[in-house]
Amino acid sequence: MPLVPGWWRRLDAALVLPICLTGLLILSVVLEVLYILTQEGVVVSGLHRGAHILLAGFLLLNVLGNIFMFICTSSSIKGVFLPTSLVGQGWEYCYSCQTHVPPRCQHCFTCGICVLRRDHHCVLLGQCVGFHNQRYFLCTLLYGWAGLLYATILNAEIFLGILHEGLSFHTAFLLIMPWMMLLTGQVGGSAFIFAFVADTCVMGFLFCTAFLFFHSILLTRGSTSREWFAGDQRYDLGCWWHNVREALGSQWYLVWLCPLISSPLPGDGVHFEM
Ligand SMILES: [Zn+2]
Ligand SMILES: [Zn+2]
Repeated sequence: MPLVPGWWRRLDAALVLPICLTGLLILSVVLEVLYILTQEGVVVSGLHRGAHILLAGFLLLNVLGNIFMFICTSSSIKGVFLPTSLVGQGWEYCYSCQTHVPPRCQHCFTCGICVLRRDHHCVLLGQCVGFHNQRYFLCTLLYGWAGLLYATILNAEIFLGILHEGLSFHTAFLLIMPWMMLLTGQVGGSAFIFAFVADTCVMGFLFCTAFLFFHSILLTRGSTSREWFAGDQRYDLGCWWHNVREALGSQWYLVWLCPLISSPLPGDGVHFEM
């Protein structure tokens, strides 16, 4: 499905709130990275700083670009022609949408509509991952993972500097329990924010690693999360790159570079090869 015309009309609390919280998270990581890059010792030369800024900019543009395209690309059944002649061949009736829906389509009670080849509702981006926007979801996950890894490595340089000077109980508690240290008045706001964002980077990186690993398996096996947990392998085409092309489109090997690269999907989200 191409970009939904007038997508901004779909803005509601279920979409705006997760996007605002995710935006705040991204902003805090970006500010922390910028702060570290201005510190003495981390960046050794102007060329070194330029390379860091290019890398960080590439990761950030891909995260933001893929999030934007994900939100703009709907996988819902709205505006999709659903041929009733096929009803019965794995089709089901959705009482909420009051229509027959094709195989792999599932109703989302948060989005309030059925979604073609629905995977799951992404709580961080406020929308369902489905047939048309899986590519943007996976690229957001990949670049989010890479960005958090990058931020964690930069934070580690600061930690190593602290360790080199000798790790005190105060610093150790700040890194392990920043909220406790703030509430008991042991640290100021800036130290708390640095430690909190650093912890968030580590936790986010671990979370993204597990999620990326799981979704890489689903991608190469041609499954959705629901089918995987149900042990349903009917839609596995038997070859990993056929499955990847089915999900990411004919330019599946290029979509990872930029969200603007066109990659038409071979299917229509209604009929599936088995
Ligand atoms: Zn429905
Ligand atoms: Zn949803």
